[in-house]
Amino acid sequence: MRISWWTGVLILLFSCSGSPEFVSVDYAVMGTSARVIVPREKRPLADSAYREMLRVDSLMSIWKPESELSRLNARGSMRVDSLTLACIRIAILVSSITDGAFDPTVGPLIHAWGFDSDSPHMPDPESIERAKGLVGWERIRIIGDSVVLGKGQSLDLGGVAKGLALDIASAKLQRMGCSDFLVEIGGDMVCCGQKGVEPWLIGIRDPADPGGIMGTMRIRERSLAICTSGDYERFVEIGGMRYSHIMDPRRGEPAEGVLSVTVLSERGAAFTDAITTGLFVLGPQKGLELADSLGIEAMFVYRDGDTIATATTKGFQEVIK
Ligand code: ADP
Ligand code: MG
Repeated sequence: MRISWWTGVLILLFSCSGSPEFVSVDYAVMGTSARVIVPREKRPLADSAYREMLRVDSLMSIWKPESELSRLNARGSMRVDSLTLACIRIAILVSSITDGAFDPTVGPLIHAWGFDSDSPHMPDPESIERAKGLVGWERIRIIGDSVVLGKGQSLDLGGVAKGLALDIASAKLQRMGCSDFLVEIGGDMVCCGQKGVEPWLIGIRDPADPGGIMGTMRIRERSLAICTSGDYERFVEIGGMRYSHIMDPRRGEPAEGVLSVTVLSERGAAFTDAITTGLFVLGPQKGLELADSLGIEAMFVYRDGDTIATATTKGFQEVIK
């Protein structure tokens, strides 16, 4: 498969260089990079946070045949770890809130388009219809600590598991007495507390001017999740056309029109990660209405004819001043 990676991530984290009392440690997980920034004297805690990220990956990766999720998909029903169950519950919640724009049962569609292989291709209409017939989060049942999938269904937690990994890494750091930190996986992040006496400084790159910055967030004394979904970072090419790696489960095709969505919320990173993917599918109009009703801040970058436009919730502008 040809997945192209853009070097330009929408979110920019200002370097730690001005803050010698903090240390930034780089890792790799879930097929991407990760980073933990903690006070220098708490350096060993960064590795503990990273181990939590690895735990989520080994439970919920669909790329590892031995992961719990792969086994659940193969069997159709299984008792699962409480962490996997928590992730599936959040996925179901967000599916219901977004009316199925987010749907963790999109696996058969991703498969029909070959996005899980080395050769993505345009499926014929019958294959799309067949795959669409297997998609439907309402058919997932949770009985005690067991998950039962509908016939032929499979779960893909790729739109939520990164967020869950950030949540449990954050929880681990807090349990171990660290209250000022930043954790990041592939551009999604949680910042907590502050960076010494300074707030955390997060820049939002200007989509219309790759060298420029739209604004800077100053985050202090709270735990905030910042997630981005976008084909800025990942897309698939079929016959020279560029397709998003996010599916619109209702149309059975890759979502179109939106280039990226960034969401800021205090509702935890798993929820934020999943809702970001859902908003990407919903598009700016419905997406911003939903963000407003949920009390979360969002920014859309989308195609408007030949131009690239941005649209945000009111509060987003205030946060990035
Ligand atoms: P990224 O992986 O770039 O951070 P997302 O968080 O939006 O982006 O997650 C995208 C992943 O979510 C896809 O790679 C796929 O595994 C899964 N996915 C694709 N479309 C949907 C959808 N409509 N609902 C839920 N998950 C999806
Ligand atoms: Mg997501």
